[in-house]
Amino acid sequence: MGYKIVYNRLIPFKGFTAINLCGFIFVRKGMNIDCTTLQHERIHSRQMEELGYVFFYIWYLLEWIIKLFFYGKNSYWNISFEREAYFGEDGLFYMWNRKKYAFMKYIFKPAPGIDT
Ligand SMILES: [Zn+2]
Repeated sequence: MGYKIVYNRLIPFKGFTAINLCGFIFVRKGMNIDCTTLQHERIHSRQMEELGYVFFYIWYLLEWIIKLFFYGKNSYWNISFEREAYFGEDGLFYMWNRKKYAFMKYIFKPAPGIDT
């Protein structure tokens, strides 16, 4: 499956390299996106395709809010979509071998090395 990278001056905010908005990967002008980051964002694109864009963002936000109560400032790292993306971003064959809805298995699994 293909992907679109949109180089621009505004998105994401300074200090960040890339953000995925509805399947488009935004990268700040002058920044380089590395393979790991690109694959991370492509995993998010798959998740969005599976759930539908609107539902993905609703779920993402809800999970982040709910997990704030359990993980506080580490909530982001425990969102199932992020857990899968960080797990798979380095895998050479991850995109090929990935099972549909792979993020599901991380919903109740805390991120390793993060205390609550
Ligand atoms: Zn991510």
